[in-house]
Amino acid sequence: MEFAAWSEIDIGALKRNVERTRKLVGDEVLILLTIKADAYGHGSPHVGRAAVAAGVDMLGVATLHEGIELRGAGIRVPILILSPSLVNEIDEILEWRLTPTVSDLRFAQALSFSASRLSREVQVHVEIDTGMTRGGVNEGEACDFLRTLAGLRGVTVEGVYTHLPSTYGEDAEFTESQIETFQGIIETLKGEGIEFPMVHTANSAAITQYKGSHFNMVRPGGMIYGMFPAKDMNGVGLEPVMSFKSRVVNVKQVGKGKSVSYGRTRRLERDSRVAAVAAGYGHGLIRSLSNNGDLLVRGKRAPIIGRVTMDVTLIDVTDIPQVAVGDEVVIFGRQGESEITVYEVAERCNTISYEITCGIGKRVPRVYIEGGRVTGIVTLIGERLPREGISQS
Ligand SMILES: *Cc1c(COP(=O)(O)O)cnc(C)c1O
Repeated sequence: MEFAAWSEIDIGALKRNVERTRKLVGDEVLILLTIKADAYGHGSPHVGRAAVAAGVDMLGVATLHEGIELRGAGIRVPILILSPSLVNEIDEILEWRLTPTVSDLRFAQALSFSASRLSREVQVHVEIDTGMTRGGVNEGEACDFLRTLAGLRGVTVEGVYTHLPSTYGEDAEFTESQIETFQGIIETLKGEGIEFPMVHTANSAAITQYKGSHFNMVRPGGMIYGMFPAKDMNGVGLEPVMSFKSRVVNVKQVGKGKSVSYGRTRRLERDSRVAAVAAGYGHGLIRSLSNNGDLLVRGKRAPIIGRVTMDVTLIDVTDIPQVAVGDEVVIFGRQGESEITVYEVAERCNTISYEITCGIGKRVPRVYIEGGRVTGIVTLIGERLPREGISQS
């Protein structure tokens, strides 16, 4: 199958990253893969199935509908909704056997009511806020909150967790004190006979930097996708999972002094060969790469010239004269001996790798490969009218 722009997801690399993470945390610790935002742009149904096959114990999503999508993809392992859920989502949470995060008493009571009416016991996790200040119960109120939940019918607190916002080396003291506060709460309650089967704090950076953050479950995201927010965190030999590719769709000779693309931000300093590549910011090739970065073609770097447009990006291929229509172009990933990493792209765009992969647009088909073979293709065509509905016009 031929596409003009596509992402390639290396499922083999993803599975090996799961195994590396498993080695790092040991067999006693559960792994919850954070698979929110469509698995950071990698496609959550495929990634979820592969990760479970590779030994991930649980999945973490941000929203109810991300959880339902995974259930629809045949995934049976427990799925934790990390963001706060709303009372009007309770029926579907129960129907799809999802595990909500609870940090609001009114929500917990409503959940208890609905679960009891169905004679069900619903598992929940409680987030304790020790410094992220995003969701969760404030640390000072956590013990009382958990005592109250221990008395609610139909609700079992299966897990407690906190989130560490500053694990990238910048703030070791703060992170250590968060872990200590969290541990203190767990121990206080343990002293009262209130215990939790799953206790977790660690994102990818904490997994690699803070052994004391592992408890009995970890929540990696980025490292399983072969990424960290910052490149220099990669000390564990992870493999990149996603590459982003396109093709040359036009090549032309353009005279010295002419301008290219919107806003005429670039004038050619010599007679040039200019190639049009079939990917733009509508695909996730970020506009701030305009006049700022390279793409790979024929195994070499070709500079992006002029503004990146919605559909097309121009590169200067004067020094790579063999370039022809149909040639594969790598936006990030490897080609021959050359590589453009997602970190390089992120740095040029003044952001982190996660935002780049999350931003690969809906119009970009995903090609899944394992051991060099294509194992699945997902095109996001979306709603489709029946054929007769189209031919009538
Ligand atoms: C996203 C997220 C993670 C994973 O973070 P990574 O840096 O990708 O490992 C873990 N826990 C929570 C609560 C998250 O929201």
